[in-house]
Amino acid sequence: MTPDNDKLSNPQVTIQTIKKYDFRFQKRYGQNFLIDQHVISKILLAADISKEDTVLEIGPGIGTLTQYLAESAGKVFAVEIDEKLIPVLGDTLKEYDNVTVVNQDILKCDIQALIGEGKSCKIVANLPYYITTPIIMGLLEGNVPAESITVMIQKEVAERMDAGPGSKTYGALSLAVQYYAETYLAANVPPNCFMPRPAVGSAVIRLSKRKEPPVEVKDEKFMFRIIRAAFNERRKTLVNALKNDPVTAIPKETTEQALQALGLPLTIRGEALSLGQFAELADKISLT
Ligand code: SAM
Repeated sequence: MTPDNDKLSNPQVTIQTIKKYDFRFQKRYGQNFLIDQHVISKILLAADISKEDTVLEIGPGIGTLTQYLAESAGKVFAVEIDEKLIPVLGDTLKEYDNVTVVNQDILKCDIQALIGEGKSCKIVANLPYYITTPIIMGLLEGNVPAESITVMIQKEVAERMDAGPGSKTYGALSLAVQYYAETYLAANVPPNCFMPRPAVGSAVIRLSKRKEPPVEVKDEKFMFRIIRAAFNERRKTLVNALKNDPVTAIPKETTEQALQALGLPLTIRGEALSLGQFAELADKISLT
């Protein structure tokens, strides 16, 4: 085990490594490297990694989190898009024989093939913020063999994922994420824990994938169309939002009948409905 002081979580070691390779940060890849060991401990704790686990890390950067993952997990696969970082990772991870670095775009990666047929993994990442939502929704909606996804993301996005009805940040993303996973906000992380500092605050969130969705709905896609329409015009009543949305275009009377049957006020807004209520509403509307 490398002593913590010699690891990349020590800002001096990160600076030396960046200088040694004359590495230039690429904004387009969302490169903000962690330089705080306490934050890494919080990520590891939230992700609950043991030697039994296979971990998939998205975007290892220069290998800061990877060094700790390699010491906690049985096996680590690290998928990095920036080819300039591959030789750096070869150096910073040379002590660890349980890490496989892959130079690929995670959005194009066949994760099952990478980790091995029939195997499952825990996903851990300090995500590039510019593609947080496509990455997370891809992992949740696709057949990715992940038990849990523990990620550092923009604080505001983490709050939206974790929010419930009535909260200002509750919306289509909250419902989409919570349909597939249980959320746990593990830590808030200020900009000074990264190099360079991001313009926004960050948070660590764990998404534990559900074996079954928490609600039953006949047509999942239709429910999510309704949810999107409801929040596209979140200040309008649900009846008006579903009528005005060009995709749903549900007649006023249809939504009113469904709301009545569910015992909900006709003036209710989408932001007041729980996932269970959206599921019931979708089933009722599709019946009429
Ligand atoms: N894990 C490192 C850390 O914590 O210091 C770096 C995190 S940095 C926020 C995000 C990393 O993701 C960068 O190394 C970036 O090059 C990489 N990245 C960006 N887009 C990616 C993609 N589509 N697929 C794989 N890696 C990507």
